Amino acid sequence: MTYKEKSPESWANDITRILNDVYKNDENRFPVNVKNVALEISKQKFPNDPITLIEGNSFDRFEGMLKPREGKNEWGIFYNNNMPKGRINFTIAHEFGHYLLHRKLLLKGIECDYGAMKDWNSPETKRETDANTFAAYLLMPFDDFRKQTKNKKETIALFKNLSERYGTSLISTILRWIEQTEKRAVIIESIDGYIDWSWSSKNAKNSRIYFSARNPNQDPIELPKESAAYSNSESLEGITQKNIWFNETCVEINIPYEHNNNLTLLIFDDVVEEIEDAVYTDVYDEIMKKHF
Ligand SMILES: [Zn+2]
Repeated sequence: MTYKEKSPESWANDITRILNDVYKNDENRFPVNVKNVALEISKQKFPNDPITLIEGNSFDRFEGMLKPREGKNEWGIFYNNNMPKGRINFTIAHEFGHYLLHRKLLLKGIECDYGAMKDWNSPETKRETDANTFAAYLLMPFDDFRKQTKNKKETIALFKNLSERYGTSLISTILRWIEQTEKRAVIIESIDGYIDWSWSSKNAKNSRIYFSARNPNQDPIELPKESAAYSNSESLEGITQKNIWFNETCVEINIPYEHNNNLTLLIFDDVVEEIEDAVYTDVYDEIMKKHF
């Protein structure tokens, strides 16, 4: 398989395997030293055009940048060091993802400013999503993530511990949890009482628990008036809400920040699936009778 065909996930998983081998059970395995990893891996795998410089500065035009070094077959990663540490780690990993996945298409390099990303359907967005996927997989590998979260109650304290372990922001840590949980959960970011964006776990989506807040043809979605998010009230341990969200019972964890912004995590009760044995048996019998 050439590097062009390799997905963000398999790039990150390959590097994770190397790191697991190197560190074994060493407690320094996390947070991933993403600077060293990018320098070392690129030197080993692509000695003809490695990353040779990773540098922070007070750039205001972008959060991260991947750039070919003038007159050399080398690349540099630059990041805005005015960001919180979790954002810096994620940004370097994101640019490293662009290097592995896209550098042959980005001969002049790329500047990334995630806040400015508005068009969610453009090819540029796919490229950005791929770089984010790579970063999440590299910094928070599922094997370790599952070990750390197994049989633990989801509270902000747990997510804060995880974000410290992985050197990631709280929000990207919660997104990672949502991505791998079997529970029905939704994360929502809201501004001034309206949902700005949200993301649902697989099983939440399967039971129609999601918001299409980014659908341009839909009216803005207002938060339920009885929710902690609507009243900007902090509930870090979570409060039980009945029939407020999706006419179901859920735990609402809410973190207000800045003015009227809220980060909200909803965790719904598990659904016990009703297996309709009788119906399936009847159909099965019918088919068997007809054809055999
Ligand atoms: Zn980018």
